Amino acid sequence: MAQEQDLDFKSMPKIELHAHLTGSISRQCLHEIWEVKKAAGETDLEDPLVVMPLGRHDYDLTTFFPLFSSYIYNLINDAPSLEHSTKSVVRDFATDGVAYLELRTTPRAMPAAGLDKAGYVAAVLQAIAQEEAQTQTQTLHTRLILSIDRRNTLAEAYEVVSLAKQFRAQDQGVVGIDLCGDPTKGDVSLFTPAVKEAQAVGLKVTIHFAEAEASASLAELSTIMSWMPDRLGHVIHVPEGVKRQIEAQTGIGLELCLSCNVHAKMIVGSFEAHHFGEWWRVDGPVVVPCTDDVGIFGSPLSNEWRLIQEHFRLQREEILGLARKGIDVIFADDDEKVRLREIMW
Ligand SMILES: [Zn+2]
Repeated sequence: MAQEQDLDFKSMPKIELHAHLTGSISRQCLHEIWEVKKAAGETDLEDPLVVMPLGRHDYDLTTFFPLFSSYIYNLINDAPSLEHSTKSVVRDFATDGVAYLELRTTPRAMPAAGLDKAGYVAAVLQAIAQEEAQTQTQTLHTRLILSIDRRNTLAEAYEVVSLAKQFRAQDQGVVGIDLCGDPTKGDVSLFTPAVKEAQAVGLKVTIHFAEAEASASLAELSTIMSWMPDRLGHVIHVPEGVKRQIEAQTGIGLELCLSCNVHAKMIVGSFEAHHFGEWWRVDGPVVVPCTDDVGIFGSPLSNEWRLIQEHFRLQREEILGLARKGIDVIFADDDEKVRLREIMW
């Protein structure tokens, strides 16, 4: 057992593939942004540390989405706050020992700040590049996934695909698209042509999958599986037949988010009941532990690995092997995979 305790999860090089940019902003960072705006008379919002007290992590589907639409998006609403928060998120992942990060964000126009959706994506990519150039984060490489929101129209979904295509060119950092948002909203079949278009131009695809009962009808899950996505996020309310389908998809990535699912009560029971325990040994799919929204749920990736060791009793070699297996399902190119195979233990 002594050897098990030798694993230092913070210094273990790790891969994070399911992290929403805005949900990954620490409360301290939100507070800093608020302080500047408050002093300049630019906001009437309450202090984030009052709205989201430190230590509160029990956000569920009814409180989570309104927190963004009525608060965080109103605080991060211009180029300086977007830049400050993006850099802070990248720095936090680097400090936690993440070697490769895929952030995701829904392109958001900020008209008051003169940013259209393309301007938003460009600002995020620039902030990532500037933060990566800092000495302390040199081992971290970050890529960006652009999300379609379930409430989007097909035209808006096409716009996301078009932005992803534009910012993938010349290796600017965008690698794929995602479908996310309030699981009680929208009909995913609307987006089939946009997803096909993304794949046709060589973009990778990850989809929030059976995140809540409302988004786990057989019709929805069959539609998503018919898209042949590269990765699935959450994978919670999955009927047995669909599980067999996933198992048969050799090399499909499963982004599993333990603390998020437990704190938000998206699963029944606590960590030991999480479906990570069911999937991590299965041969075909590649399981990658992810944080989802570390700013909300408060558990950095190093802690997710610690929880895995604690609740599922994985041995040291099993943990390191699983972490390395994640390399196979990143959306970056082969050069990046080679780099990661060299630095991951
Ligand atoms: Zn998510």
